[in-house]
Amino acid sequence: MKIGLIGLGIMGKPMAKNMLKAGYDLTVSDLNKAAVDEVVAAGAKSASNEEIGKTCDVVLTMLPNSPQVKAVMLGENGVANYMKSGSTFIDMSSINPVASKEIAAELAKKGVNMLDAPVSGGEPKAIDGTLSFMVGGDQKVFDEFKPLLETMGASVVRCGEVGAGNTTKLANQIIVACNIQALAEALTLAQKAGVDPQLVFEAIRGGLAGSTVMNAKAPMMIEGNDKPGFKIDLHIKDLNNALDCAHTVGAPLPMTAEVQEIFQWLHNEGCGQNDHSAIAKYYEHLTGIKIGR
Ligand code: NAD
Repeated sequence: MKIGLIGLGIMGKPMAKNMLKAGYDLTVSDLNKAAVDEVVAAGAKSASNEEIGKTCDVVLTMLPNSPQVKAVMLGENGVANYMKSGSTFIDMSSINPVASKEIAAELAKKGVNMLDAPVSGGEPKAIDGTLSFMVGGDQKVFDEFKPLLETMGASVVRCGEVGAGNTTKLANQIIVACNIQALAEALTLAQKAGVDPQLVFEAIRGGLAGSTVMNAKAPMMIEGNDKPGFKIDLHIKDLNNALDCAHTVGAPLPMTAEVQEIFQWLHNEGCGQNDHSAIAKYYEHLTGIKIGR
């Protein structure tokens, strides 16, 4: 089976390397030549998007957002123009599920199957090959490509038809965003009321309030460590997609809208490339304290 991968950023590069380690025949492309060279040095071939479309049985993408996936697949000279009937497109980017369905409908006209398969886990899990995949698409297509996704992920779950993967990812991003906001708000209260946030974290992490978000992000907030991780600008993109999708299906998201506006303030303050735990800065701005310091 010949595999093509377009998009070799923070996530795509280690994912490519894990497919190579598993012995897959991989051809790659990206606008960033240095990223392509690195993956070619690990055993991949390099080709144009046109060549990838013509020669590969399955084309994967790991691109920033819906406009990039649409442009690469359906734009002028898009990959879909060259893909064979019966081949498959798997989009692993986190995009708007409405866009996933639109792309799938266009590809179906050419006899090309599609799965939307966004991931959760970030760069460390992309490197370890332990990402969580949330997949939408036909059961038969899912069954065929599950082993491929398992070379990059520890968990690969089909959530429904095309679009269900990205809908699940939006649910994931809402829960993470609201957790991060609650954590920053709670640690700010502790600091302002004269209780050490580190001791608050230690006291409550094993109880009902404890979470993966708390374990990962409380130490960063307490240290004032903003190194990404997951960037505020990417979270703004995901919450925009969540709100857009929500308005399309008629599901108001008041909590998401509030976190989104706080992230937007942080973006305006020049924090867009910081880790999303930098939401603590908003509360520090409101109260004049520094969490943990
Ligand atoms: P990134 O910005 O590091 O990488 C995107 C890559 O796409 C870049 O190498 C860029 O050059 C390439 N690209 C953009 N437009 C292109 C085009 N037209 N043709 C070819 N290449 C093009 O982003 P990332 O962090 O790797 O994230 C990719 C996706 O995965 C996003 O949707 C993101 O939300 C999602 N995601 C990221 C993380 C994370 O922690 N970084 C975690 C889970 C999911």
